[in-house]
Amino acid sequence: MSLQFKEALKEIKRESSVDFNTAWTLFSGAKTWDSAIELFSEASRVRDERLGNEITLRGHITMITPCLLDPPCKYCSASSSVPAIRANRAVLRLKELTEAVEYIEKRGMSYTIITGGTILKGFDAEVKSVVKAIREITDMDLWINVGPSLSTETLQWLKHMGVNNIGCSLETINSEAFKDAKPGDDFNRRIELMEAIEREGMKLWTVVMTGLGTNQDLIQSILYLRRFRNVESLRLSVFKPIAGTPWEQKQPAYMLDAFKAMAIARLLFPDSEVGLADGGGLDVLAHELMAGAGNSLNGILINTKKKEDMVDYITRMVTDLGFKVRPGSSST
Ligand code: SF4
Repeated sequence: MSLQFKEALKEIKRESSVDFNTAWTLFSGAKTWDSAIELFSEASRVRDERLGNEITLRGHITMITPCLLDPPCKYCSASSSVPAIRANRAVLRLKELTEAVEYIEKRGMSYTIITGGTILKGFDAEVKSVVKAIREITDMDLWINVGPSLSTETLQWLKHMGVNNIGCSLETINSEAFKDAKPGDDFNRRIELMEAIEREGMKLWTVVMTGLGTNQDLIQSILYLRRFRNVESLRLSVFKPIAGTPWEQKQPAYMLDAFKAMAIARLLFPDSEVGLADGGGLDVLAHELMAGAGNSLNGILINTKKKEDMVDYITRMVTDLGFKVRPGSSST
């Protein structure tokens, strides 16, 4: 472990307002077994100290709106030439959606994420009809993410309907890398929506992608998000090539890079929910928690193709690791 790495770790422990050099020293220095473990241990210690060891399980329902970006993002299943893969982005009918919410509530989840695709002219009417339909059956906490397609008026309406947590994925602060990966999307509109969410006094949920731009961009993106005082949740997605997409030949991002960036995000956002996007998958869940993730995980995932109920499995796993599942968010 280099002296600079040790110094950078001391500095980030003392002060969360560290600069790029310190954060980059941690990221680039965590390349040996002992330095990576040191970074992950510190991130886990901060999580335990600030958030405790209780895990909340949530639902995740997708998609509530189609993605109509033209063209769709180069890495996304929406841009795949394979119909079966594109079908992962099919939109739930309203009845399927309300049944999914009912199922998630019956399983004891305290909140559910609902996500959809985006369109730059706005999905305000569509999102309102989805929320109205859900509010007829439950006042369960909802987190909504349909990209930069919500007006300020809709944010205010959502707040009135008890929806206080809005997702808007930054993906990367490198606008050129953003444009290359997401030619149909609008970088500035995403920033403007994040600012509007903060102005309206709502909570922000955002995602940064490992493998989009350079690793320096990844760290700069996490540092950039510190300007928002309302980051409730910050997740790291990990690029994996999808068959039939323009990026199918591109190399996958390193999972280790995602873990290192996630641990740094935990140190910079000690009171926020931090983790891999979509839970990262059950096979890496234990590693994710050991690297400082928490304290909320997807317990149930529902789309048009599947209903994945992982509540009992995750409950057993996190209990084995010394965590508790928050009462009311598990069937056991
Ligand atoms: S905005 Fe989201 S759903 Fe649409 S193409 Fe991009 S990643 Fe896929």
